[in-house]
Amino acid sequence: MRAVLLGPPGAGKGTQAQVIAAQLGVPAISTGDIFRANVSGQTELGRQAKVYMDAGDLVPDEITVAMVKDRLAEPDAKVGFLLDGFPRTITQAEQLRSSLAELGSGLDCVLELVVDEEELVRRLSGRRMLVDGEWVQRDDDKPETVRHRLHVYQEQTAPLSGFYEQEGLLARIDAIGTVEEVSARAQAALRQAEKRDSAGQGDAPPAG
Ligand code: AMP
Repeated sequence: MRAVLLGPPGAGKGTQAQVIAAQLGVPAISTGDIFRANVSGQTELGRQAKVYMDAGDLVPDEITVAMVKDRLAEPDAKVGFLLDGFPRTITQAEQLRSSLAELGSGLDCVLELVVDEEELVRRLSGRRMLVDGEWVQRDDDKPETVRHRLHVYQEQTAPLSGFYEQEGLLARIDAIGTVEEVSARAQAALRQAEKRDSAGQGDAPPAG
């Protein structure tokens, strides 16, 4: 299964990616996590990405796409993957499509987590992550940056919903509810995608 998890900051992508990827037996690949690991490891990639991340802006496509290509070339991604936070622009989506096509494959499903904006702001401003045993707020979860990130999402990432809908890959998931409720909805959508894929690969769909 090669799938993408799409949704605004605060929709619960990170949590759902872990749960769904474990159920599918594929790696969850989060570009945000890879960037953050590079920032704390003080690598050149981290130094370049930090400026954009701190401002709540997207890291340029060239940097992000090259990083994802490298990650997808690793052996664990051969069985499939669940991308979390990538693609985030139409350019990234097109480049992902051509990279996968070069390998003779393509995406099976794009899950879009849907949450209204009021709920997103509420979730993001209360969100904390555990670093060295302490709960801290991510720099980019500060209220001003949160508003900017939501704006960036609307401008640059939301169009991906229509892009993947046209490709027949999109499944919209109501992301309000417990982790289990949301992941059950995601699982149901993935099963549908699997059925569709296997019907597409057979000679003819079963009658009825
Ligand atoms: P996330 O943890 O997915 O919210 O990502 C945190 C930050 O990393 C984002 O606000 C961006 O600055 C950067 N980032 C993550 N994924 C991407 C991407 N696909 N394209 C550009 N920037 C990204």
